[in-house]
Amino acid sequence: MSEQALSGLADAFNEALAEGRLTIQSCNNCGKPNMWPRYRCPYCQSADLGWRDADGAGTLVSYSVVRAVPPNGFEDQLPYALGVIRLAEGVQLLARLEGEGEHGFDAYECDAPVRFSPHPADEMRERPVAWFRLESEAGT
Ligand SMILES: [Zn+2]
Repeated sequence: MSEQALSGLADAFNEALAEGRLTIQSCNNCGKPNMWPRYRCPYCQSADLGWRDADGAGTLVSYSVVRAVPPNGFEDQLPYALGVIRLAEGVQLLARLEGEGEHGFDAYECDAPVRFSPHPADEMRERPVAWFRLESEAGT
């Protein structure tokens, strides 16, 4: 399978991020959600897949704060945090965590309630990734 074909799988997800929405690929046949996007449903093998908006609520399963030795292109992002988020819909994704709260990244802990945080369209087109923040700091 070519890299070009694979890259198209996430186009709808990335475009929704640029519109301020978090979406989940879902099967139109059996109704189950998929994360990450696929060409066929892993449960019923249907190719009839669509997208639906996620609620945006989730739980932080695990996370890591990168404070040194960033990969190429992330030098200006330090420190930054990546987390595994389990969405209310039951699927998990890797996401960035915001660190602007009162206690920064120290405020995060496993099993903490988190919420999707939309970022500007130009930022999402340059580096598409879902951002989350602590539920207790959402809207601040
Ligand atoms: Zn299915």
